[in-house]
Amino acid sequence: MSNQNDVKFADFPLSETIHQSLDQAGFERPLPIQAACIPPALEGKDVIGLAQTGTGKTAAFAIPIIQRLANKMELGALVLAPTRELAAQITAAFNELGKSSGLRVATIVGGVPMEQDFAALRSWPNVLVATPGRLNDHIENGRLLLDEIEVLVVDEADRMHDMGFIPQIHRIIAALPRKRQTMMFTATMADDVERIARKNMRDPVRIQIGITAPAHRAKQEIFELAEDAKRPLLLKLLRKSTGRVLVFARTKRGVDSLTRIVNARRLKAAKIHGDLEQGHRDESLANFRSGHCPILIATDIAARGLDVSGIEHVINYDFPHNAEDYVHRIGRTARVEASGLATSFATPLDRRFVNDVRKLIGDKLPKPTRLESYSVASTKVTPEKKPKGRYRSGRRSGSQRRAATKSG
Ligand code: AMP
Repeated sequence: MSNQNDVKFADFPLSETIHQSLDQAGFERPLPIQAACIPPALEGKDVIGLAQTGTGKTAAFAIPIIQRLANKMELGALVLAPTRELAAQITAAFNELGKSSGLRVATIVGGVPMEQDFAALRSWPNVLVATPGRLNDHIENGRLLLDEIEVLVVDEADRMHDMGFIPQIHRIIAALPRKRQTMMFTATMADDVERIARKNMRDPVRIQIGITAPAHRAKQEIFELAEDAKRPLLLKLLRKSTGRVLVFARTKRGVDSLTRIVNARRLKAAKIHGDLEQGHRDESLANFRSGHCPILIATDIAARGLDVSGIEHVINYDFPHNAEDYVHRIGRTARVEASGLATSFATPLDRRFVNDVRKLIGDKLPKPTRLESYSVASTKVTPEKKPKGRYRSGRRSGSQRRAATKSG
């Protein structure tokens, strides 16, 4: 087998216009997932890609679809994505690589007025990118016929499963022709995902791109500290940082309150979580992308699949309870060619979750540095030291107490 590093886009039977679009996008060589996925996909085979966002998987399925559907009139491909943001990114990738080939892409996602969907569908798309809920709404109300679909892509199937979309996906698949090509991308092969694959795919080619690939390039650090020491440390890190920072909190309310606190300190933060109106989410992303708000505070679900380049620092304000979420979160930095820093806060109650991550990614996870709350509240962040002299850990000096109250 040829070394994947030697593979060139010129090795694939792609149209001249696609090659030009790849040049314009600055894609010099296929990334490993593309080198492995494009040839079988061009042959019409079913493909399961075990890869997470940041590996180049979108182009891995978009390029063969563009080649197959360019200049066709029918709606020939359906791409399902778990979140609106991911759907928007996939649409952007199809536009970037497919527009010159005459490809027309439409997006159908929840949270926007129905009129927008009708306008999108009237544009005679040949690729439809959709989230499952809204798409089902259209199918069930007879507003959309999918009987010309030749290619189905289920992106981030594991997250679809986590978000409870599997029944919806079954209903959508039932509305598609049985004779079609199916491609599925997932970071992990959960049992339910495996079941969908077995039931709906024909002899799929399996391609695995290391789950921790993007994480390799990110430098990681973990601070173990008390819950009430997290906020002052976050503010300190945000004040120090110069580039884009993505902060993860566990709950929507946590995102709301952290955003308020950070903005009250005149650090510009945008927020994103599932309860926000689509307009608000779009604005947050645009502000983060443009650098107007260099800080984005998000829940996992909203941030999943975000493709924002130049995120230098990911901060896990709340340590994730699911080890794979850790990998996804830190994969937001160090994407493709870049490198970045991932800082995680873990309270003593999070130790078992830290161990879960260690089981998943092994020694790449550094040992936690223990921080005493007093040192966090002061101006220096110092690793735990043996208390000297009469000082007892947990006791603060007057100025430290004042500093803690002020910043908390
Ligand atoms: P994805 O995993 O699809 O979200 O892609 C991650 C990033 O990689 C996106 O910003 C793409 O534009 C970029 N990308 C995809 N393929 C290539 C390539 N062959 N060369 C350079 N960058 C790429």
